[in-house]
Amino acid sequence: MPDSQILVEARREMEICNACRYCEGFCAVFPAMALEREFSTPDLTYLANLCHNCQGCYYACQYAPPHPFGVNVPQTFALLREESYRQYAWPAPLARAFEKNGLVVALTTAGTLALVLLLIGTLTSPGTLTSAYSGPGSFYNVVPWAAMTIVALLTLLFSLSALTIGGLNFWRDAGKNLSLRSRDIALGLLDALTLKNLGGGGHGCNNSDESFSQSRRYLHHAMAYGFMACFAATCSAAFEAYALNLPAPYPLLSVPVVLGIIGGAGLIIGTSGLIRLKIITSRAPAATELFGADFALLALLWLAAASGLMLLAFRATDAMGTLLALHLGLILSLFVLLPYSKFVHGIYRTLALVRNAAEGSN
Ligand code: SF4
Ligand code: SF4
Repeated sequence: MPDSQILVEARREMEICNACRYCEGFCAVFPAMALEREFSTPDLTYLANLCHNCQGCYYACQYAPPHPFGVNVPQTFALLREESYRQYAWPAPLARAFEKNGLVVALTTAGTLALVLLLIGTLTSPGTLTSAYSGPGSFYNVVPWAAMTIVALLTLLFSLSALTIGGLNFWRDAGKNLSLRSRDIALGLLDALTLKNLGGGGHGCNNSDESFSQSRRYLHHAMAYGFMACFAATCSAAFEAYALNLPAPYPLLSVPVVLGIIGGAGLIIGTSGLIRLKIITSRAPAATELFGADFALLALLWLAAASGLMLLAFRATDAMGTLLALHLGLILSLFVLLPYSKFVHGIYRTLALVRNAAEGSN
């Protein structure tokens, strides 16, 4: 298959950068680039996913537009990353979901909300959505236990399978047949968990102009750790329900609820701040054609977190049914869309950081 236009552009820019090397101290990309004499397609895919889009090299670059060389590494790598998400997606026909991703997210969310309402309408008596229920098992008056379990399990299993196969596809190319040591995996994970490369060499990112800030890094932390806490809340709730036979909803001071509150707050703070940064960011180093996908995932995460916290606040009232339906519809949409959204960057970037640790360039 001939190289795409964006691959050709990435190769051209890396050849200029490899001769220049001014940005070596900014992030892991430039030391990793310096190891290559020629840039194969998997190498460029790896470098693009190693880039954390801090934009530091754009503002430092003497060859950035309007210079005739037109070097714009953050923009070029953002477009190449998106190309890699489509290339490695599983099953391949669903890779098209990355095109017009904002619309796909909106339509899928409408579909999952309709599915939840259909299940409630079919399996429960009229008026269920507007009735007040309380005590253990009250959620199952609105959405029967079996329906909730089967739909959630099927969508989660599909999502995890698609994410795993996509990650393996990426590693098969970009991993360069490296034999992995546990030390490299640990180092790669540590870099991913601390977002070291979003620190831009110590000063932070260029969010909207040439000034530096750590805000994007901290907001990303709030969102990512918030997401992990919410996932842990879901797992602990499943453990209580299935292993301990304790049906939801749970008391305020139980493990699932405390984790859910911390995670929901982190998600709302992180996604709100990242949406604001995306609105004010300079368009020059950005790939604006991908903004729809970025906003769609941030908005979906925000809505899922907000609906979860609202459900907790109003679970003893007659608004519980409607809020539960809304929350479940959003969570189902999130499960289905994770492999076909910007979420996959977390997996590919972590794998790129593992290769980076294995090559020892940083
Ligand atoms: S981004 Fe510009 S300044 Fe930095 S290494 Fe590349 S060519 Fe040099
Ligand atoms: S992480 Fe920042 S400095 Fe490094 S290539 Fe990406 S945008 Fe440039």
